[in-house]
Amino acid sequence: MQRIARSPGAGRRGSAALRLCATTAAFVALAGAGIARGAAPAQSPAVVSSEQFLARELPPAVASRAAPSARVAGLLAKMTLREKVGQLTQLAIQTVTTGVDQEIRIDPEELRQAVVDYGVGSILNVHDQALPVARWHELLREIQAAAARTRLAIPVLYGIDSIHGATYVKGATLFPQPLGMAATWNPELMLAGSKVAAAETRAAGIPWNFSPVLDVGRQPLWPRLYETFGEDTYLASVMGVATVRGYQGDDLASPRSVAATLKHYVGYSLPTTGHDRTPALIPETTLREHFLPTFAVAVRAGAASVMVNSGEVNGVPGHVNRFLLEDVLRGELGFDGLVVSDWEDIKKLVTIHRVAGSNKEATRQAMLAGIDMSMVPLDTTFADHLLALVEEGAVPVARIDESVRRVLTLKERLGLFDDPLRGASDGGEVGGPAARAVALASARESIVLLANAKGVLPLKAAAASGAGPRLLVTGPTADSRVALNNGWSIVWQGNREDLYPTDSPTVRGALVERFGADRVRYVAGATYDTEQDVAAAVAAAREADIAIVCLGEMAYAETPGNIDDLALPEAQLRLARAVAEAGKPMVLVLVEGRPRIVRPIVDLAAAVVLALNPGQEGGRAIAEVLAGDVNPSGRLPITYPRWAHALRTYDHKAFEEQDQSFGLTAFSPQFEFGSGLGYSTFEYSGLSVQPAVAGLGGEVVASVTVRNSGPRAGAEVVQLYVTDEVASVTPPVKRLRRFAKVWLAAGESRELSFSLGRDAFSFIGRDNRPTVEPGAFAILIGGLKGRLELAASAPAGR
Ligand code: BGC
Repeated sequence: MQRIARSPGAGRRGSAALRLCATTAAFVALAGAGIARGAAPAQSPAVVSSEQFLARELPPAVASRAAPSARVAGLLAKMTLREKVGQLTQLAIQTVTTGVDQEIRIDPEELRQAVVDYGVGSILNVHDQALPVARWHELLREIQAAAARTRLAIPVLYGIDSIHGATYVKGATLFPQPLGMAATWNPELMLAGSKVAAAETRAAGIPWNFSPVLDVGRQPLWPRLYETFGEDTYLASVMGVATVRGYQGDDLASPRSVAATLKHYVGYSLPTTGHDRTPALIPETTLREHFLPTFAVAVRAGAASVMVNSGEVNGVPGHVNRFLLEDVLRGELGFDGLVVSDWEDIKKLVTIHRVAGSNKEATRQAMLAGIDMSMVPLDTTFADHLLALVEEGAVPVARIDESVRRVLTLKERLGLFDDPLRGASDGGEVGGPAARAVALASARESIVLLANAKGVLPLKAAAASGAGPRLLVTGPTADSRVALNNGWSIVWQGNREDLYPTDSPTVRGALVERFGADRVRYVAGATYDTEQDVAAAVAAAREADIAIVCLGEMAYAETPGNIDDLALPEAQLRLARAVAEAGKPMVLVLVEGRPRIVRPIVDLAAAVVLALNPGQEGGRAIAEVLAGDVNPSGRLPITYPRWAHALRTYDHKAFEEQDQSFGLTAFSPQFEFGSGLGYSTFEYSGLSVQPAVAGLGGEVVASVTVRNSGPRAGAEVVQLYVTDEVASVTPPVKRLRRFAKVWLAAGESRELSFSLGRDAFSFIGRDNRPTVEPGAFAILIGGLKGRLELAASAPAGR
């Protein structure tokens, strides 16, 4: 075994074991630089722990039904019914503009009708491209000027989807998509990136962001998987809190804050067909176990708004599900912010879901279920129907008043009554170097090295000449910014290669930058689903030392991303097989938003690198990982399936592992949730679980030592899973309950301690309530297993 010197100060650090960095900015600089240089960070950010992150960012739970402010109460008292229903109406920008793309102009007559005559409360979106900050300012100035001419001069609330950066603000910083951010397992980076996204959105004058998606991604076919934080409820909860805190800061009225929108409440992400907006069947226990907690914790983090699930759960469309909207969201979760519908979804109650025979009846059902604002979004019929319904007594005025109060309160909290253009007037920077540094640090940490058995990575210089290796780069995602960024990038579908800024390289461009044009040969090889010049790729592979084959997906958003087969298209498989036959080591680089099946080719590859839409700096980050400038530290936030019909999550039930011979081999994903390699190795030792017997409400501390036993500095994601050995609702094989990302120099060790309270042992019982039962539990960390018992009779606090 290789002898590795222990670095000074390594080893047990007692109570300093879990130290958090002082500030996020310092963290990004240090973590990024440290890992990229291959050296230990000078001043160690050391550990980012999920537990301490939540403790710092989550305010204590308080009942939040504050009385309206004097301003809001005063306005409500003066408003006519028409003014009220106007406030509950949201229109798309194309209803008040002419032209598309950069040519978009306000149509003064349409604007007058919408904002002055109908008094609409909110406008959204672009038509169809990201606009420069200055254009946003012009549009918003005209919109707010129209609002100022109304009787009560209530400003318009503008909203867009800044889901991985300010995607509709030209030149803004594009981060990894949320699934890629989840692969960093680093909430400090999520917080830092969300602050940038908020500041760059608000710099355009836009105060409302339709993000984050807190649907848990447990259906890999679903075209919105990349918008989620993956399959695990705890990881998604931590990342969700980071996002909300980053967007909103401590003060929504700050010119650097935007209101967050938790979406799509709830159960949207588990369509049986895998197609967008198709029905889900989710028993209440499962809904409460896996799908509600992300929303609950983000509500507690102070999220200002919630968007409703466009689909249906158990036969009830999200937009008429009063139980979920009123009893659970308002009642149990204590949410008092704004609930907005999704796109045209009240009309879809008639056209798609068929729970209402007319738009007026759909409006009645949705309002009584608890919707506050309707994203209509292409006409004003909603306001007309609602007005009639209230006049007829079919919807009580009190119901309307409640929603108007929420709309006005949000506008007030955002500071819009004082300055409707807050943010626009403050000269905030967009796409600056500091923001891009956060995007690069995020992209680096998001890359997951899935296989490297033959040690082909990092790429080595040719021994004789010392020159870099001769590389063939091929495949549909090799030279594509579209693939790096995916949907919700500059345009809704993210599919306009010509619109991406050219100063952020593709994988090909970054490899040329890193190794020199004379070392990198590029052959397209295939498009997403068509072979192109496979023979040329094979010929070039023969001339190269290494073949880098970049496969995966191009861009898609929502329904256009529906697929019926998780397999990679045949053309891509054929390209990989043909290139492999050239006999040179092949590195597969998968750039994709969901796990496309690679089983037929994966064993042909010497190494596999996964980039879950790493954003604008993704090409550079991939090249740095391949070159070894960055030691990869991403870990899978999803289970990567081996077979298209074996889509089990890591936290499946034990019986799902049973095979035809009654053995336990049926769970064999291609790559496991939480897995990922680096250029270092980590060893775990000394797992202790104290006390061995605890009371049901008691606290248990699990400690473990992790040591970097590899040759260079690196980061490990220490994951703590709990197995409930016997439970009254069939227990999953394990659940992730805590994690910590830890940076260690070569040879360095560190002891980490995790404290486990009730939440770590609890599950949703047969009565649909959180339950902790006495009995044996296993604690699993890094291949080690500890045990403890919860005893009903043990003294509390033990
Ligand atoms: C999507 C939402 C999005 C909205 C506004 C809808 O189609 O489902 O996630 O926020 O459009 O762009």
